[in-house]
Amino acid sequence: MRLLNFVFVVVATAVAATLANAGEWTVLHHEKRDYVTFANVAQFYQFPEYTRVSRTVSLRSEHRGIRAQAGTSELYINGVRFFTDFPIVSEGADDLISVMDVSKLIEPILRPSRIANTQKIETVVLDPGHGGTDQGTMNGRGTEKDYALDVAMTAREQLLRAGLKVEMTRSSDVGVSLEDRVQFANRFPHAVFVSIHFNSASGGSGVESYALAPAGVVSNAAAESHASPTEVQPCAGNAHDPHNIALTAAIHATVLSQLGAFDRGVRHARFHVLRNINIPATLIECGFLSDPVEGQRIATVQYRQRLGQAIAKGIENYNAAVNYRTGGASFAVARTNLPPHAHSITEPLEAQLNAAPANDAAASNNGSH
Ligand SMILES: [Zn+2]
Repeated sequence: MRLLNFVFVVVATAVAATLANAGEWTVLHHEKRDYVTFANVAQFYQFPEYTRVSRTVSLRSEHRGIRAQAGTSELYINGVRFFTDFPIVSEGADDLISVMDVSKLIEPILRPSRIANTQKIETVVLDPGHGGTDQGTMNGRGTEKDYALDVAMTAREQLLRAGLKVEMTRSSDVGVSLEDRVQFANRFPHAVFVSIHFNSASGGSGVESYALAPAGVVSNAAAESHASPTEVQPCAGNAHDPHNIALTAAIHATVLSQLGAFDRGVRHARFHVLRNINIPATLIECGFLSDPVEGQRIATVQYRQRLGQAIAKGIENYNAAVNYRTGGASFAVARTNLPPHAHSITEPLEAQLNAAPANDAAASNNGSH
């Protein structure tokens, strides 16, 4: 009951904050949760085109688009895949999206320059995963700890060239505890934190990125290092929910557009390094060492350099998007020129989970984020 009250307060606050012009929103209640229609979203964000064919809704304007399908927990914004906080619901003639998703996902992605309390980045804290005796995942060619450090070092060079300060949680092959990584990052003002990892799971390939799950929202990285997978209590990192998702999306979209990897989506989790951090933070899984094709690509220096450069560019894109009026989700637009996704939007999260249980989680990284 306490939890329900808490969630209600969070959502109510979110409504007040996001749906600033309350008269323009009609909030509907569906199974104890607040929703709005996609038609309402189209109207509020001034998408001239709104279509609903079968169960797929599509909102389009000249420079941006949202696509979603009722019954799934996915949403595509400018072609970039996001996992929603709650499923998209079909009710009568309307498809509904939760108010939480409007405030925590759509709003900061479509209007990053309106995120409150943004600061121009001075310092980027790069966090290459694992190190020392903790090798992370591996294949016959190399280890996650080495690849992550390598990618981070390239990103560092590029960020320094862009005039930013860079701090590394580790810059050699040493073990650093998750607590120490967070404490280190929390020393820097006007900073962002980017944790770099690689994945392993049979059948998986592609890039997935994580922002801290908003309070009241269950993680969708089931096997990871949570106190409890269903825990929904707020963390210090939730103070930066809009920054977290914007930073995550900016890096994710840039990496996808520059590397052409499969889009496993922007997801939410309560990884240790995202929980108690006082600056905007993200964690990117740059690809699967276990996939024969992707594993081979990652083993090349050139591919890892491109990954590092793309991560740095994504951070710069975030910095520009939240600090200047850029006319919207500039960081996701690059994706619109790419070919359509190999996997259809009709594929619900549940089907994906059922088809490949290990696929959704960074199984080999259990406990190490
Ligand atoms: Zn890892």
